[in-house]
Amino acid sequence: MNPRQIKLLTECPPRYQAILTKAFDVKASPRAAIRAFCLHCVGYSLETAVNCTSYGCPLFGYRPGQKSASAGQNRGQFGKTGDSEETDEGLPQ
Ligand code: SF4
Repeated sequence: MNPRQIKLLTECPPRYQAILTKAFDVKASPRAAIRAFCLHCVGYSLETAVNCTSYGCPLFGYRPGQKSASAGQNRGQFGKTGDSEETDEGLPQ
């Protein structure tokens, strides 16, 4: 992990440190990494990420809270299918 990533981790709410750490360590699934990115994008407000209205964002259909609509359309986009694309993997319940 580089110094910038370590700094971001210290600024991240504890509940999201695990998903961010996995993403930084390249151990998160692509979907979990996108969720980490969305959380970072909106200042770690899960509700804001779920209700994001940035329709032009390429990650819009993959943001937290999106279960089947985009996952079905884009299944296989990141390689293997069935790798938790329909869950909020990596997010605290
Ligand atoms: S979908 Fe919304 S929350 Fe996620 S990266 Fe894009 S703008 Fe940010």
